[in-house]
Amino acid sequence: MTEEPAADVPNDVPNDVPNDLPNDLPNDLPNDLMDRIVNVCKRRGFIFPSAEIYGGFRSTYDYGPLGVLLLRNVKDAWWRAMVQYRDDVVGLDAAILSAPKIWEASGHLSNFTDPLVDCRSCRERWRADKIEGACPNCGSTDLTEARAFNLMFKTFAGPVEEDATVAYLRPETAQGMFVNFLNVLQTTRKKPPFGIAQVGKSFRNEITPQNFVFRTREFEQMEMEYFVPPPDAQKWFEYWLDERYRWYLDLGIPPEKLRLRHHDPDELSHYSAATADVEFLFPWGWDELEGIANRTDFDLKAHSAASGEKLEYFDQASGERYVPYVIEPAAGATRAMMAFLLAAYDEDEVGGEKRTVLRLDPRLAPYQVAVLPLSKNDTLVPLSREVLGQLQPICMCDFDVTQSIGKRYRRQDEVGTPFCVTVDFDSLEDRAVTVRERDTTEQVRVPIDALATEIGGRLGR
Ligand code: ATP
Repeated sequence: MTEEPAADVPNDVPNDVPNDLPNDLPNDLPNDLMDRIVNVCKRRGFIFPSAEIYGGFRSTYDYGPLGVLLLRNVKDAWWRAMVQYRDDVVGLDAAILSAPKIWEASGHLSNFTDPLVDCRSCRERWRADKIEGACPNCGSTDLTEARAFNLMFKTFAGPVEEDATVAYLRPETAQGMFVNFLNVLQTTRKKPPFGIAQVGKSFRNEITPQNFVFRTREFEQMEMEYFVPPPDAQKWFEYWLDERYRWYLDLGIPPEKLRLRHHDPDELSHYSAATADVEFLFPWGWDELEGIANRTDFDLKAHSAASGEKLEYFDQASGERYVPYVIEPAAGATRAMMAFLLAAYDEDEVGGEKRTVLRLDPRLAPYQVAVLPLSKNDTLVPLSREVLGQLQPICMCDFDVTQSIGKRYRRQDEVGTPFCVTVDFDSLEDRAVTVRERDTTEQVRVPIDALATEIGGRLGR
């Protein structure tokens, strides 16, 4: 394996992250936005470099207490939109460790490659289609010819390392849906058009992991295979383009930072009749969040031929038998999380003081509410815990008693908590609390007995 080349934005978070960002920020977004996001992620517990105490490990990352909540909310939002709110899509969780036969039939063993070049001067390795003729590390144009590098991680299942025990870590979740097509068809009695959805880890031995969690070797995908009668494929392709584009808008990506880009015919994968990407305007330019592809009947036919099982649909009413076409919206959960963070990042001024605020949609924010006793004083803590107990069943809550209330508001703003609930000494008398809203900083007094309904209503629950 080669060392990762330095990227133009940091791959790894520096160890000496400062505790506070400078205060002299312009109103429009800073051009070192990436550095600031990486900084907030490390400092506030969203994302840590993996194995940090050993100096990090090859651009792998661990999701900390806040990151795990945000990432889970991204995946849950996807699951709600793709499975819960539909009666034509069902879920699946297939094995990550998978049989070579799957990848032989799908074409991944022969085709899932990136073009690899070596720089003869500094010995760095690069993905040929991502550089422009010169080594990004030393500038040399003395590069080797590109050769195909397979991105699948190979391992051995069982105690003997031999050809018979080879297994692969899946590089996409999609094949799990194809090889379970008959199982799902038979157990759910669905008929086309219907979909199978899956969220989970995928692994690709990327030549150059890059841009924080944008491109990593271990990442999470949210994929759905939608099986349709072949004549309807184009209609459903357009339907899913629209649905998926609107999902990002609905969760707070501004329209000027989101676009759909149709692939040119020479860009299409070996299985695809049409593909379009949902792209986000990252700090380095437009880049892919999700690919929506018309995969035709390529995968089902390939697995039928290789396994001998007939992966087709028999319509009893019409007596018709056919292999469905597949429309696939394939998104990255970790990549989407990064886009939501970038889009939410803002800096403004409250009462003459600068603040950093993540304007995350409340459905995505790690915590929906922070319960803050005004003082550490013992008399406020029991009532604050009672308030916390009322809110915990409806949303994820933080409970913070340290530092001044102003500093605690800033801390919550910086991690995107939409509501702070402050318990003060008056609360002991009037059994009411102050609810502060993150974006407007507006504060209203709410009776404790009405709080769960009030917060639930504001969260749309
Ligand atoms: P690329 O061309 O950027 O390598 P791709 O077009 O091969 O990616 P797909 O196979 O379409 O990507 O994967 C679907 C989605 O999975 C991508 O849109 C992306 O959000 C996510 N994804 C793919 N590879 C990675 C990775 N290495 N790290 C993080 N997310 C990834």
